[in-house]
Amino acid sequence: MLIQGLDRDVWSPINGWLADDESFFSLCSRIHFSVGFRRSSDTCRLLFGHPAHGLQHDFPARLSSFVTVTGGHFGSAAQVLGHTLFPFFFAWMQVKSAEQALVQVCNERSSYAWRFRLRTATCGVSPDHPLKACPACVETDLLQTGVPYWRVHHQYPGVWVCKMHGCLLSVQLRQISRAGALSFCLPSIEEMTFVDVVRSEELAAIGRFSEFCVASVRHLALRSAASQIWRIGRALEEFKPIDSPRRRKQLESAARSYVAYLATLRQAPGVPVLAADKYAAMAWLWKVKYGAWHRLHPLVLLSMAHWLLGEWREDACPGDASSVR
Ligand SMILES: [Zn+2]
Repeated sequence: MLIQGLDRDVWSPINGWLADDESFFSLCSRIHFSVGFRRSSDTCRLLFGHPAHGLQHDFPARLSSFVTVTGGHFGSAAQVLGHTLFPFFFAWMQVKSAEQALVQVCNERSSYAWRFRLRTATCGVSPDHPLKACPACVETDLLQTGVPYWRVHHQYPGVWVCKMHGCLLSVQLRQISRAGALSFCLPSIEEMTFVDVVRSEELAAIGRFSEFCVASVRHLALRSAASQIWRIGRALEEFKPIDSPRRRKQLESAARSYVAYLATLRQAPGVPVLAADKYAAMAWLWKVKYGAWHRLHPLVLLSMAHWLLGEWREDACPGDASSVR
């Protein structure tokens, strides 16, 4: 393991978060190595009062327990939650539902049910979220502090390019105990599986979409998902078919254009499930057009928003969170 032999003070969690974008799993992994337990389950018992519920890098449970045990040293449960994947999914919920869910997540004893509540397994998107890291970031961390850490933004679904270095993220293999539980770990070049190289134009396009996904969390917290769906719906309404002048073919024509856009994104690892034919794309566009967008995975909504809008706009529109609150 990379951290063996390093000065303990360097990677000790006593000084708090390593950076604003450090993930909660990264912090827990540092605590695990700092306290010196051999098994991750012992660290989980210490921090979460359960042998496994804190090991999920995407949706950890018992955050209130963690805050109590650590005396609030790393912030409140809601602040800690900001370093997980919950905000990415909460962004696409109604404002009131997200606020209620936030309280529930902090106090619930298990997070397994959230995978279903947050639509992590709809539209053919895998509910498994691989641990991703940028090899160049890991090398930089090792040079600067000696401690590589997990960036929470790199873990978001749809993010496959590091904004800082412009390279594809790699997936880290995780050790599994004999009981089947995953272990705490920090990024390690030796344990990464490098993904296939994509062409530079595709890499640039995937990079733009990655940035769009990261920006969505902050943007939707201000503007609400409902207002952005309204914007997407209007852009879809205004979509001008190039290949068919007939209006009744508009949705079919839009679906063809959407599929062509998705073809580039499908080159990124982990997103080959995004609609490959116009019929699946039409079904998704239909749901947005007629108000059933809650049934779509956030990754689908993000791809649709990026295809139609290109970037998040700061100007207000009907249903903005700021006007609701
Ligand atoms: Zn990087």
